[in-house]
Amino acid sequence: MTAVSNPFTTHDVFNQSAPLQNYDLFTTNAALVDALAFNLPPTRLAATTTRLTATGIELGKHETLALGDAANLHPPELKTHDRRGERRDEIEFHPAWHALMTLALKYGLHSAPWSDPTPGAHVERAAAYLMFSEVETGVLCPVTMTYGAVSALKADADIASVWLPKLYSRDYDSRFAPMQSKRSALIGMGMTEKQGGSDVRANTTQALPMSKLEYKLIGHKWFFSAPMCDAFLVLAQAPGGLSCFFLPRFTADGALNAIRIQRLKDKLGNRSNASSEVEFHEARATLLGEEGRGVQTILEMGVYTRLDCALGTAGLMHQALAQALWNAAQRSAFGKLLKDQPLMKNVLADLALESEAATALGLRLARAYDAQTDAHDHVLRRVLTPAAKFWVCKRGAHFAQEAMEAIGGNGYVEESVLPRIYREMPVNSIWEGAGNVMCLDVLRALRKQEVVDAVVTELDTAKGSHAAYDHFCVSLKDRLANANEFESAARRLTQDIALAMQASLLARHAPRFVFDAFVESRLGSDWSGAFGTLSPQAPFDPLIERSMPTQHA
Ligand SMILES: Cc1cc2nc3c(=O)[nH]c(=O)nc-3n(C[C@H](O)[C@H](O)[C@H](O)COP(=O)(O)OP(=O)(O)OC[C@H]3O[C@@H](n4cnc5c(N)ncnc54)[C@H](O)[C@@H]3O)c2cc1C
Repeated sequence: MTAVSNPFTTHDVFNQSAPLQNYDLFTTNAALVDALAFNLPPTRLAATTTRLTATGIELGKHETLALGDAANLHPPELKTHDRRGERRDEIEFHPAWHALMTLALKYGLHSAPWSDPTPGAHVERAAAYLMFSEVETGVLCPVTMTYGAVSALKADADIASVWLPKLYSRDYDSRFAPMQSKRSALIGMGMTEKQGGSDVRANTTQALPMSKLEYKLIGHKWFFSAPMCDAFLVLAQAPGGLSCFFLPRFTADGALNAIRIQRLKDKLGNRSNASSEVEFHEARATLLGEEGRGVQTILEMGVYTRLDCALGTAGLMHQALAQALWNAAQRSAFGKLLKDQPLMKNVLADLALESEAATALGLRLARAYDAQTDAHDHVLRRVLTPAAKFWVCKRGAHFAQEAMEAIGGNGYVEESVLPRIYREMPVNSIWEGAGNVMCLDVLRALRKQEVVDAVVTELDTAKGSHAAYDHFCVSLKDRLANANEFESAARRLTQDIALAMQASLLARHAPRFVFDAFVESRLGSDWSGAFGTLSPQAPFDPLIERSMPTQHA
């Protein structure tokens, strides 16, 4: 590295890595490129690759990356009242937030697979979403909730006919105004109350009928993210039991609906995004689905948000990996570049394996949501969604910590993106069903024989590719059949389903050395889970080179 002479200090700055910017987030991500090719219909691949390359270049620009920094440095502010003392209940964001939302909607991350439901649409969107997560994830909260809500809203023809055209629009409209006057709209979700989030049956918010479908909501939500959305799906107790309601920010006559924002959460991470506490003071809402079937209706939205938790974490992992590799290729210690130190090679190669496996699982799961999906995928996604959310998100915080440590002290400092990634990781694990809740959902899914069969079919596609893989799958299949015998063992079972699925995918679309290294580390009986514990014979250099980012010429 050449020394840079600095006339204002008494020393020269050297052995510091340059910022990672102005690079293509798509074509430099070999794991994503391969997973995409595997999961997309071949006829779509060329056009999708062209679109994602353009997206990857735009996202990797210095200017775009800087928006992520700015949106987090300047968090949103709540304005409860106007100068006259009237309720305003409005959130003000930094311009960087709006610029990022403009990009996310331009790429169609909020609804493209619904407005253009062609085969492969969910997979293409998943790849773009993963790349966007590398830049900023706060804005993806309303984007994800909107993506998830479309499916639930389609069940109501009246709401769908009015709202879906606005949800399909790619023209972001930041104005706080009745939906009728806006170019596009976004949807949020409210389930969690003070007394419980996992067990939503504990909800106390009351829904009082005014007419057949119109109700008044009285109560609260303890977590209510992205309150600037134009409408929300919320749960409340109706006379017929817990039900799902469509709650717009403005009523049909254009007045502010009675959703009172109490305060914003002071969160560990996810700081660009507003997460609020709200009260409903006879807020007007429309019943969605049947009374008493609220959980089923809102879960239609929830499964897509779980998919995005896995994809978003895979994106964060990849950015953390890219930063660690980039630094290790430029920083020397004890006379060698870090990437050439044998023990650091092991850490970096192991991180690269984990990142690739997370990407593979995320894209495969997205394929299971594709509009033209087959019966096998439809059943598979029932178990793969909670399993992927649990395992990928569970590895996230640990991953970020190791990537940060690989960069050393600079990794702990805000100017590097690692602290933001590290703070962001746990939310995907907690939100929309924390780890245990996901594992219990896996057990519930496995009560159906067709779900067990779908997992077995999927694993058998890679049968015979490696003795350790076959051995692992034999014992896993036994446990699938008796999954519900020991609730307390659900985490280990879910972890093993995810690992076996990741291995089977790597067998099918990654280079052989990636698959071998994954199986020989993760599926062995002595795997500790710590990074940097690959066997000394593992292909460190090829694994590192495969993931090393490169800047534009
Ligand atoms: C940044 C952020 C944004 C959020 N945004 C929203 C939002 O927009 N809308 C919304 O509705 N919610 C939102 N949430 C809330 C989130 O979905 C809940 O926090 C989450 O579902 C867990 O619910 P809880 O906090 O009530 O925890 P609890 O239900 O009290 O759970 C605590 C722990 O117990 C475990 N647990 C629960 N049941 C069992 C069981 N039977 N066996 C074993 N373990 C169990 C859980 O896995 C968890 O680890 C948000 C949360 C965060 C952090």
